[in-house]
Amino acid sequence: MRTLDSNTSLRIAVQKSGRLTDKTLKLLEGIGLKFDDYKRSLLVRCLNFDVELLLIRDDDIPEYVEDGVCDLGFVGANVVEEDQADVTILRGLNYGVCRLSLAAPKEDKLKSAEDFSGKKIATSYPGITGRFFESRNIDVQVITLSGSVEIAPRLEIADAISDLVSTGGTLKANGLEEVIKIFDSETQLVKTNKPLSNGKSELIEKILQRIEGYQKAANSRYIMMNAPEKAVPRIKEIIPSLKSPTVMPLADNGMVAVHTVIPLTTFWDVMEQLKEVGATGIVMLPIESMIV
Ligand code: ATP
Ligand code: ZN
Repeated sequence: MRTLDSNTSLRIAVQKSGRLTDKTLKLLEGIGLKFDDYKRSLLVRCLNFDVELLLIRDDDIPEYVEDGVCDLGFVGANVVEEDQADVTILRGLNYGVCRLSLAAPKEDKLKSAEDFSGKKIATSYPGITGRFFESRNIDVQVITLSGSVEIAPRLEIADAISDLVSTGGTLKANGLEEVIKIFDSETQLVKTNKPLSNGKSELIEKILQRIEGYQKAANSRYIMMNAPEKAVPRIKEIIPSLKSPTVMPLADNGMVAVHTVIPLTTFWDVMEQLKEVGATGIVMLPIESMIV
């Protein structure tokens, strides 16, 4: 077991190659961590923080973090839940969003959990799937497969499956129908429960704060527009702003430029209302990071 050691770098586990890899590395770079070419090595040093990345299979991440081999890990909630890993979930990260669902051949017309009673269910998630049925006292036979679960019914290895779904396209292409969602997932930042040095804890706190700023920025847009000065009170009502907007006079008499930040989800509503009160030249820009 590792001991408190302030001389070692903060070690972060990241999926080596898969759906989470690029988004995780983009997030780490987005919060200001710089890395050498991470395609070349499994252990990648950060150039400007006392951090190193360990690139491994996603299935191994919860265990590495639980054992304290890594201090942090970026991994799907599905994998953490499957392993029932003893780690602390610091934050959900809004990418790698998917769900674990029960699916069966369309023609079987299964509808409820009870309809799966006595069936053979193929899955890469025997833990989550087994617990789902156990907690409902429904007897099923869970068959563990490591991949290509969706073809199990056609191969007559199983009657139904429990698999990760994002769009549902793979299920459809295999003649399967999604029946019940059993687990919602997204990528999570997880932390070891082993003791950490003060230096590492402070660094983790800093990383968390930067991630918060990065996520806020990703969900916000900077907008700029020109408007008649008399429309400013109405504009202030329309804009669900974080703080009061910047209003600057323009060379044209009675006209002003208004700059502010809005949540991305409100963009189209806000845009239409702004046009109605006379705003023109409305421009929206992405924001790199934000501290409020
Ligand atoms: P590894 O070689 O690291 O074991 P893998 O094949 O298990 O890779 P990926 O297919 O890259 O893993 O999926 C990684 C994670 O991406 C999943 O555990 C899940 O959290 C998330 N994910 C998001 N959408 C989907 C989807 N449609 N199918 C599978 N995983 C998804
Ligand atoms: Zn995996």
